[in-house]
Amino acid sequence: MGFHFWQHALDLISTAPCRSCGGACEPASPSPLCGRCLDALALPEGGLQGDQPLLWCALAPYAAELRGLLLRQRPKPDRAVVSLLAARLHHCCASVLPGAWLVPLPSWKRSGNPLPALVALALAEASGGRAALAPAQLLWRSRPTLGQHHLGRSLRARNLRDAFGAAPAGAGLNRPLWLVDDILTTGATACSAAHALQAAGHAVQGLLALARTPASAPR
Ligand SMILES: [Zn+2]
Repeated sequence: MGFHFWQHALDLISTAPCRSCGGACEPASPSPLCGRCLDALALPEGGLQGDQPLLWCALAPYAAELRGLLLRQRPKPDRAVVSLLAARLHHCCASVLPGAWLVPLPSWKRSGNPLPALVALALAEASGGRAALAPAQLLWRSRPTLGQHHLGRSLRARNLRDAFGAAPAGAGLNRPLWLVDDILTTGATACSAAHALQAAGHAVQGLLALARTPASAPR
C-alpha cells in the first residue's frame, strides 16, 4: 500500500470534479468550476452597471452558460459555486460596499428562492467584513404575490405594490443599504422593496445581482 495509497488519496484531494460539468479541475485549484466552465461563463471584466429602474450592478447578462448555471442553482444551491460567483460580483462592486448592509430580497414562502440570501452572505464574506448582512427583521414580504414570469411590466408593478414591509430606520438600524437578488429582470420587485425601505427612512443605494436579463429579451 504505502506510496500507492497516498498517491491515490492525493489525487482525490487535488482533482475534485468540476461542480458544473463533472470533469476534472486543474490540480490543486480552489475553484469549484473547471477552467473550461469558468471561461464559458464569459463574465465581462468589471461586470455590468446601470441606473434603471434603480442603480444596479450585476456580474453578467442572464443568458447562455450563466443562465443555465443559475437555473440549476435555484432548486439546489451549491455554496462553493455561489461563493465563486459572489466573489466575482464583489470584484465589480467592492468600492460601494464599505459600511453597507446587504439586504437579500425575501421570498413569501420559507421554501422560496434561496439564492438571494446565499448570495448576500457570500458577498459579505467576500468583502472581508466591510459589508455585512442586514438584520433579518429589516425587510419582509407583507403579502403573497403572483409569480412574476407571465406578467407584463405594468401588471408586475401592480402585483408588487405594498408587497413589502420594513422596520423603521434608527435605533441601530441605520446604514446604507444594498438590495441583493440573484437575477434582475424588470426591477419591479427591487423597486417595491426599495420603496418600502425608503418609506421607513432607510437610504437604499441600489441593487446587486448575479445576472441581468438583456434589455432586448421579451421578459
Ligand atoms: Zn466544468
